[in-house]
Amino acid sequence: MKKTLQDLLLKIKDENPSLAGLIQDLLEKASIPLQLDITSFRVEDFSRLAELAVRELSEDERRNFYEAFMKGLSSLGSDLPKQLEEKILEKRLPPEKRVHSFEEVVYDVDLKSAVHEASRCLRCKTPRCVEACPLSFPVPSFLSLVAQEKFDLAMKLALRLMPSLRTCGRICVAYCEKACTLGQLSGKPVRIRAIKRAVADRYLKPENLPKPAEEKNIKVAVIGSGPAGLTAAYRLRLLGYPVEVFEAKSVIGGELIRRIPEFRLPSKIVEREVDLVKRLGVRFKTGICVGEDIDLNDLMKQGYAAIFIATGAGVSRSPGIPGLDLDGVEMALTFLEEVKFGKRRSIDGIVWVVGGGNVAVDAARTALRLGAKSVKIMYRRTRSEMPAFHEEVEEALREGVEIEFLTQPVEIIGEGGRVRRVKCIRMKLGEPGPDGRRRPIPIEGSEFEVEADHVIFAIGEEPESGWIKEEYDIELTNRKAIKIDSRFRTSRDGVFAGGDVVRGPSDYALAVADGIKAANEIDRYLKSRNL
Ligand code: SF4
Repeated sequence: MKKTLQDLLLKIKDENPSLAGLIQDLLEKASIPLQLDITSFRVEDFSRLAELAVRELSEDERRNFYEAFMKGLSSLGSDLPKQLEEKILEKRLPPEKRVHSFEEVVYDVDLKSAVHEASRCLRCKTPRCVEACPLSFPVPSFLSLVAQEKFDLAMKLALRLMPSLRTCGRICVAYCEKACTLGQLSGKPVRIRAIKRAVADRYLKPENLPKPAEEKNIKVAVIGSGPAGLTAAYRLRLLGYPVEVFEAKSVIGGELIRRIPEFRLPSKIVEREVDLVKRLGVRFKTGICVGEDIDLNDLMKQGYAAIFIATGAGVSRSPGIPGLDLDGVEMALTFLEEVKFGKRRSIDGIVWVVGGGNVAVDAARTALRLGAKSVKIMYRRTRSEMPAFHEEVEEALREGVEIEFLTQPVEIIGEGGRVRRVKCIRMKLGEPGPDGRRRPIPIEGSEFEVEADHVIFAIGEEPESGWIKEEYDIELTNRKAIKIDSRFRTSRDGVFAGGDVVRGPSDYALAVADGIKAANEIDRYLKSRNL
């Protein structure tokens, strides 16, 4: 006998009459008739209902709605609940194996599972994933192509926007997933980042690159080759500009290649993406530090009609406590860079890493892999205030890193010029500060000491703006960041800036988005000048 949505509502009403009332309301608002046969109730219908539920219900109501609705559908013979189950298959090294190697922790995402996962997408009318993504990545269209196994087309779509989907599929904070309608209901968003990775690992190839517009006779320079610089260079090249990127270091890729450990982002991934940017015709000049090896004013005289500054935020903040000059005390960024370039292959004894962000977690997991006897993170707030990605903290704990919360170092104590102990103080949380996180307050008289052989500081980074001379007329903020307006223009005509040198340390997606938007603004500026 035919089963309808009315039957489903009756089932829910038996257990929870008020929830049944809520659902009936939603069905009416979505203009879905109660007489509809359960087997004819499709993803498109559920999508309308889901978007309404996310807009109108509280978090608890949403979860209850999803659970009861899916249970009801399932008991009445609908396939929809199965279709919406999470399908992604990530292949991970087990913790006991990975702590002895720098191999990537998630070493593959199964493509077939990515196809099934993509078919979970509800194709929302107002895609929250796109709204939340700083790049406005066309998530539903991309997922639809993947679900149809049109991988080359999906890749071409992504490459119109950015060259680095393999990196994005690994280290992006995934604002899209946090906002995803399905995730808001079920707690299990479409795994967009993993799908991107599965496809990009196999289909990011030169044949899928878009063709640049006809070459213009107007040169643009980009300073810095991290995510913002690389993306801006790529986009400007696609718009037809000859682009040269000036990179102070000997390698291209900025922070991505210098500081993110191999187990999170292998160098070869970034190198392949840089290769694509080169193939498009972008030229790179490495080992040239603007401000030292070449003056910015001279660069402008060399005929670059616009310059985009994206030098990042690679200057470690110092804690300003006694004992920093002892052997065994170091800054996390330098430590990570030395390991990445093979200058550092081991670390012994008890290692403390001070900080709660991704750099601290990366340094701790790296120290573990280099052979430290024990690795502990010291953080002055609690777990819920840690800025590091939740999943990276989880992985670190699984691997054996410990975390000492509500603790801050006040002095590093040495013997014979080497670190031996750290004097710490306990903290408590006070009122929220301007960033919304509760401020840590030292508890008087709570000082204590811990043993240490190494102390690695990861307490924040500052914009890499020390090379900017006064005569460049580029205004900085009191936090040493470059000041820009809403169109990425600095105080100097023709000079634009974006990424961490403007924002301070932020995340990959925001830097890439800045690169895209700044390239558009530079194009607009150059067109307005009728060069
Ligand atoms: S990914 Fe999530 S938010 Fe985006 S269209 Fe699909 S279901 Fe909607």
